[in-house]
Amino acid sequence: MPTCPVCNSSKFVSYRGRENARCVDCGSKERARLMALVLSKVAPTGNGKPVFHFAPETGIADILIERYAGSYSPADFSPDLYPWSKVPLTKVDLRQPLVHFPPQTVHGFVHSHVLEHIPGSIERIILEMNEAIAPGGFHFFQVPIEPGWYRENMDPNLPGEQRRKDFGQDDHFRMFGAMDFHERILRLFEDFQPIDLTKHIGFQELRDAAVPASSLSRLTGHSVFAFLKR
Ligand SMILES: [Zn+2]
Repeated sequence: MPTCPVCNSSKFVSYRGRENARCVDCGSKERARLMALVLSKVAPTGNGKPVFHFAPETGIADILIERYAGSYSPADFSPDLYPWSKVPLTKVDLRQPLVHFPPQTVHGFVHSHVLEHIPGSIERIILEMNEAIAPGGFHFFQVPIEPGWYRENMDPNLPGEQRRKDFGQDDHFRMFGAMDFHERILRLFEDFQPIDLTKHIGFQELRDAAVPASSLSRLTGHSVFAFLKR
């Protein structure tokens, strides 16, 4: 019987045809449980600089509060969507990261399935976020990934139904593709050391957390990308 690394529950139900995908007690899905495992294994300790958590999930928020206490800072473009948050949210527009985060002032960024929502140059957005991180800091994230190639459409007049068809949801501006994920995204982390998660998390441990093994062996929407700034 698997155990949820977010809340320690052993009650799971299937979700959208995926067996044991959803934890009954905390509502976490596979990707939140993998992020919880990653944070518990490899997240750097706090140093007083802020750790920003975009589009915060409750369980991950609790883990980050425990680890970073007063340095934890949840953030979103629409702070009103998070009335449950124990820490007040900062309003952030990720189209302009450096407007919010001056260079080398941030200890960490944590976000899951956020970057597909931001209308703007994905390369500039990631580079500016990375510039904001101080040496020794970290950038941990997840994005939806399909087997093909990267594609995007910034046209504000594109109908929601078309966005759903092209990018999986009516408020998505892009879909990441496994074929060019390195060229498009991972190469933007040249000032960073990638963490090889297979050295820290075993396949049995994944199974015990009801997370698919493909999260570590392939590029999927559950995979965590974990980078430390040199
Ligand atoms: Zn749970």
